[in-house]
Amino acid sequence: MADKPTPMMQQYLALKEEAGDALLFYRMGDFFELFFDDAKVAAQVLDIALTTRGEHGGEPVPMCGVPVHSAEGYLARLIKGGCRVAIAEQTETPDEAKERTRREGKPVSKALVSRDIVRFVTAGTLTEEALLEPRRANLLVAVAPVRDGVGIASCDISTGRMELEDCAPDRVDAALARLGASEVVAPEDWDDAPSDVIARPRQDFRSDDGEARLKALHGLATLDGLGDFSRPMLAAAAGLVAYLDHAGRGKLPFLLPPVARGSGAHLAMDAATRTSLEILSAQNGGRDGSLIACIDRCATGAGARQLSEDLSAPLADLADIEMRLASVQHFHADPLLRADLRAMLRQAPDIGRALGRLVAGRGSPRDLGQIRDGLSEARRVRDMLGASADLPPLLAMMCEKLGGHAALVDHLARALVPSPPTERSQGGFIASGYDHALDALRETSGNARKAIAALEAKYREETDTASLKIKHNKVLGYFIEVPAKHGDKLMAQDSGFTHRQTMAGAVRFNSVGLHEEASRIAEAGAHALAAEESHFEELIGEVTAAREAIAATAAALARIDVSAALAERAVEGDWARPEILDEPCLEVTGGRHPVVEQALAKTGERFVANDCSLGSDDRLWLIGGPNMGGKSTFLRQNALIMLLAQAGSFVPATAARIGIADRLFSRVGASDNLARGRSTFMVEMVETAAILSQATDRSFVILDEVGRGTSTYDGMALAWAVVEAVHEQLECRCLFATHYHELSRLAETCDALSLHHVRAREWKGDLVLLHELARGAADRSYGLSVAKLAGVPSPVIKRARAVLDKLEKGRAETGGLAAGLGDLPLFAVTAQAEEEKCDTLRDALEALDVDSLSPREALDELYRLKSEA
Ligand code: ADP
Repeated sequence: MADKPTPMMQQYLALKEEAGDALLFYRMGDFFELFFDDAKVAAQVLDIALTTRGEHGGEPVPMCGVPVHSAEGYLARLIKGGCRVAIAEQTETPDEAKERTRREGKPVSKALVSRDIVRFVTAGTLTEEALLEPRRANLLVAVAPVRDGVGIASCDISTGRMELEDCAPDRVDAALARLGASEVVAPEDWDDAPSDVIARPRQDFRSDDGEARLKALHGLATLDGLGDFSRPMLAAAAGLVAYLDHAGRGKLPFLLPPVARGSGAHLAMDAATRTSLEILSAQNGGRDGSLIACIDRCATGAGARQLSEDLSAPLADLADIEMRLASVQHFHADPLLRADLRAMLRQAPDIGRALGRLVAGRGSPRDLGQIRDGLSEARRVRDMLGASADLPPLLAMMCEKLGGHAALVDHLARALVPSPPTERSQGGFIASGYDHALDALRETSGNARKAIAALEAKYREETDTASLKIKHNKVLGYFIEVPAKHGDKLMAQDSGFTHRQTMAGAVRFNSVGLHEEASRIAEAGAHALAAEESHFEELIGEVTAAREAIAATAAALARIDVSAALAERAVEGDWARPEILDEPCLEVTGGRHPVVEQALAKTGERFVANDCSLGSDDRLWLIGGPNMGGKSTFLRQNALIMLLAQAGSFVPATAARIGIADRLFSRVGASDNLARGRSTFMVEMVETAAILSQATDRSFVILDEVGRGTSTYDGMALAWAVVEAVHEQLECRCLFATHYHELSRLAETCDALSLHHVRAREWKGDLVLLHELARGAADRSYGLSVAKLAGVPSPVIKRARAVLDKLEKGRAETGGLAAGLGDLPLFAVTAQAEEEKCDTLRDALEALDVDSLSPREALDELYRLKSEA
């Protein structure tokens, strides 16, 4: 039989059981230790040494550890590495443990310090400044699939914001893509859960509980005043709060009253569209090369977070968009105001996050200082902005939220030193003059320190030892130290010094006078610390009481920052204010792709601006031309221009008239999209199918080389059918890039479709790509010239040219790839014929009286129906 585990191991195993799949940080003195598989995972992620400690079940126990004082950095890396961590702290000192064990009548040698999990650290529940990225929101999301729909609750506990929304079951992926959560929780029995979702008990997701929790949290008798919350929304809220409860071990972080998000209010985009447009991150996953990196000129982290959110969920309501545009315009028109404001904002600390930490009970004196400085900066912003004439409504509304904190700011200013420390346990953050008793205590220890300095001088003289020093360390406190060779002098019986310690090169002593002064310091210090601690609690109480107003101020500052930053970007890039309309058009003059333009500028190249003009009688552009000619760039720039406009930004164009879209889709043909598990062509088709089922006549769709992921015939046939369906059925605005020449024949039958191409010219045998869009079909494909441009060796090119000549000759004789397509009936016509045939069959089936048929007759009937089908 294996040995019984030691008491410590039993305690560890019980805590680990509680921690579940989170890594257990087990506090042992100055270290957090990890054991077993936890140790292996952590050692790998952190790249630290894996050792062993003792045995369990006859096997050595793997172990690794991190020092407590630097645990935050290690935690950050583990969280980034996708881990969750449970922190088990010692809940009593070793002395207390001994005392308790004695009281329990057990041998003191067996005393084991009690430990408890005090908190789960997970990606979605962070508040620490060091663990959060300043310019990114950190969302925790709960998904609640219930009988009457799916509810989604999201919150950023670093700032307390919480939103609830309803979601169609097939739009959950899109919603999660929009939110970009750090952590998602859902009931364990949800079959469609994406792989990285954290499973929680089903009973956590009860809408009644959700309602009750929200009411209790915000001290409300009813939620009606906050908005209209559905059952699924409340179920999601319940799951979210339950998880926060679990992670904080019963200590809930700060949550603002929830806001219900309406589904129609935003431009909908699915996950594939977001990825392909590289809105918040580039294809390689980084921020560099993304839209946000290219346009973010925010002066504050909170502003940058707001901007990300605006780009993730652009608006779909004309009045809302105009409000934002007017604010940008205000700063666009006034460079001085803009510069002054931005300088001010740069001084403003992140009050939203400081507030989050303070209310969650993880705040520091520094956070209080940030609240003080942030709120007084907000007031300065208000005074400056408020002074400007004809303030647009959105800015006026924001300005109103900036003030009203005078009493709090004044109190914090009197109470705190100018830059309070992050560590509260050492004190020293309460300003002098704030509390006379505290001042007196400080004076006492100050005097005692001076007295000690005087003692040092006195002892030097008395003992005639110039190298005598009075020092301090944690173990001994204050002591007198002399080099070893002078030790004997002080050892003498009547010297007045008592020996404490002999070191290699020095001897240490105490004296009655020193002891007295040291005690005065210690006593006064302890009282001073206690006084500071109680002031700290009181100040936190005051901040907590005003938390909703402070959060509103933080949000207003962020919104103002975004407006000014977008104005800054517009000036920098020579962007124009778009005209927003409620009709399906997209007219862009001199449009540019902001990211490509910026990249080209670095190498001194010029971006060629292009126009786009879609309207109800010309709503589908088929764009041909050579590879590398600029087709994708053109498609995306127009999608980005629409997205920016609906987010309330100016756009990279000389002028733009943009009809609000309800949905935006972007798809890229399979071969650009390799690194995925599913067959790439399958992905392409699944994504295309989603467009065909979801786009409306208010949507905007860009399709880039769809059909490319399969053989020429299949691909062209699919591309053909997709274009027809978009034109005939969806009737949405669409840009479609393709290298299939044959598709240009669609212009003959589709009247709202027009042909365009990116221009290229051959010059002295070399291909010159002009990146310029022109009307009409592309005259040829230039494939071989592009290959030459790309450095394919000339013998290969020569050979290819010979093959091509043969193929083209064949094509001329047979009528080519699209031979016979001329008499293909239009998509709608074939679809209608199919439907009519179905109707006839259905009628015939309904007319049958099955009970009156003999088996023989039934068989005949079946043959007849089959011949008609
Ligand atoms: P295609 O989709 O036709 O293969 P891309 O849109 O991918 O071509 O463009 C290829 C490259 O050409 C881009 O990476 C960019 O460097 C350059 N380019 C594209 N459009 C422009 C433009 N309008 N002006 C200048 N350079 C451009």
